[in-house]
Amino acid sequence: MKTPTPDVSSAELVTAGQVQYLVTCPACGHLHRHLDTGNRRAPCGARYTIASKEPRP
Ligand SMILES: [Zn+2]
Repeated sequence: MKTPTPDVSSAELVTAGQVQYLVTCPACGHLHRHLDTGNRRAPCGARYTIASKEPRP
């Protein structure tokens, strides 16, 4: 572990059959889109972990 990454919640956005994850960046406050969850690096350089949403049975 080098740098602790904050956990962020995401909103799923489905576009043309592809799921994107919208995250409100804790660093810059803007919305960033990601194609996957987990430990991601934002365009602004911030790092965070996008929590995966697993469907509950
Ligand atoms: Zn950002």
